[in-house]
Amino acid sequence: MRPAFFFDRDGVVNRSPGAGYVLRWKDFHFNEGIIETLALLRSRGFALVLVTSQQGVGKGLMTQATLDEIHALMQGELARHGAAFDAIYACTCLADDAHCTCRKPSPEMILRAAAEHDLDLTKSWLVGDHDRDIQMAHHAGVPHTIRIRGDEPLQVTADRVLDNVRDLLPFIMSFKNSGINLDASSKAKTRRP
Ligand SMILES: [Mg+2]
Ligand SMILES: [Zn+2]
Repeated sequence: MRPAFFFDRDGVVNRSPGAGYVLRWKDFHFNEGIIETLALLRSRGFALVLVTSQQGVGKGLMTQATLDEIHALMQGELARHGAAFDAIYACTCLADDAHCTCRKPSPEMILRAAAEHDLDLTKSWLVGDHDRDIQMAHHAGVPHTIRIRGDEPLQVTADRVLDNVRDLLPFIMSFKNSGINLDASSKAKTRRP
């Protein structure tokens, strides 16, 4: 079992598309500092898991194949930096789909990831830019949460609030000095994709 860092996608990994969706790779822009942050966490033995809501598929604005292609291209770029995600979970349902059980703040995507990748949620973290991201972590029993301040109003309390994704790397690097053990476990192996 190893701990994970769960990441929301839009507004955290890549620039927020605002009220819309990233419908093609051309419009996917990594946020400054995120690749270095992912690479550091990976080198420290954390599993990296993307948990994202992509309602644009449910709305018919893009196909599942297009979403998969965007994620494959994202992974390719991240892998060049030793920063690829170990797993990607996406809820593509409509927000008002009565049969959907996976949409945030449901903990389902995190619980599935834990079961499928043998993750220790009690030592895991989540980084998000929306109340629903933080609520999902709370519902899943992920104790550590980092909120990136975005356009959304902050109503749910996270452990830390950072103004910008750029602040993630220095914050995580400061763990060492603040006594927070960043090493996932003494037995964690550094893995390269
Ligand atoms: Mg977001
Ligand atoms: Zn769903």
